[in-house]
Amino acid sequence: MTKTHRIALIPGDGIGTEVVPAARKVLDVVSERHGIELTYTEFDWSCERYLREGAMMPDDGMERLREHDAILLGAVGYPGVPDHVSLWGLLIPIRRSFRQYVNLRPIRVFEGVPSPLRTAAAGEVDFVIVRENVEGEYSQVGGRLYQGFPEEVAIQEAIFTRAGVTRILDYAFDLAARRGGRLTSATKSNGIVHTMPFWDELVAERAIHHPGVTWDQEHIDALAAKFVLQPGRFDVVVGSNLFGDILSDLAAAIAGSIGIAPSANLNPEREFPSMFEPVHGSAPDIAGRGIANPLGTVWSAALMLDHLGHPRAASDITDAIATVLAKGATITPDLGGSATTDELTEALIQAL
Ligand code: ATP
Ligand code: MG
Repeated sequence: MTKTHRIALIPGDGIGTEVVPAARKVLDVVSERHGIELTYTEFDWSCERYLREGAMMPDDGMERLREHDAILLGAVGYPGVPDHVSLWGLLIPIRRSFRQYVNLRPIRVFEGVPSPLRTAAAGEVDFVIVRENVEGEYSQVGGRLYQGFPEEVAIQEAIFTRAGVTRILDYAFDLAARRGGRLTSATKSNGIVHTMPFWDELVAERAIHHPGVTWDQEHIDALAAKFVLQPGRFDVVVGSNLFGDILSDLAAAIAGSIGIAPSANLNPEREFPSMFEPVHGSAPDIAGRGIANPLGTVWSAALMLDHLGHPRAASDITDAIATVLAKGATITPDLGGSATTDELTEALIQAL
């Protein structure tokens, strides 16, 4: 008996409306091949909707999403609409209400996509960043006093809870156990003297529960340097909200193209839908021209299939991505080629 997975599609704005249909085509081929049943509901929630109707999504938006098993999102963002509208009107409510406390960012240097680093060889760089997605440094707690006076003060609190740190670390240790068995924790306990020692203690404590994983920790400054000097040595890297955010962008740059980078916002307990989205934004500069790179969304769709319990279907997709990139004949302009979104999608389907 095959279980039907209900997928919410939110193409969003700009190139989101071009790359999500491309990913859908790839999903159709792969799901048919593997006997996976997917049904789709498409939502037009976007900054364009905000401009028309005054809100990114309707009042009952979260309840409607809640009826799905996963969300595939393109990108939200529109010239003239401030970032906080799309963040607070859509992305943050989804991440927080659906307890998507894991932000997962796989990094690979593919053959055919030159990394800006001499040190990053294709095939050797293949790791995953696990970023804490709901607490840590990005808190609402703090304030400003004496504005404009010489005594002016700004205070920003970071919030680390035992439950919140433990669950992200357990997720990272489990992932490392399923991959290469190595975990690196980002810290800064020599400078941040309360929260980071707490984080480090919990890493050592959780390590006892995952004896098959070898782990180490690096101060964030040294770790950033090692990402550049020896990106091939990492397997799973776990960091707080701020450190994970910074490392993710650094790592995506190492991989050579923002158009390829995928991400997953996971609720590992599956009480709520998880959300899958490319790392890039709505790219208004190239929107509507049919040349957006669909691979970041296609790879995100592969992460979605993996999360829904179909790892072989997921690896078929990543293998097809690797094949098309290595051939190099059908790649979009951001990768130095001249193919359109449709042509690259068609090449992926051929490779499948
Ligand atoms: P937003 O406000 O939605 O974040 P942005 O323009 O600030 O949009 P991105 O959308 O990530 O940020 O775009 C950054 C640059 O990368 C742009 O020049 C864009 O054209 C390019 N880019 C991003 N994604 C892709 C893609 N999938 N294919 C090709 N080029 C891309
Ligand atoms: Mg932007």
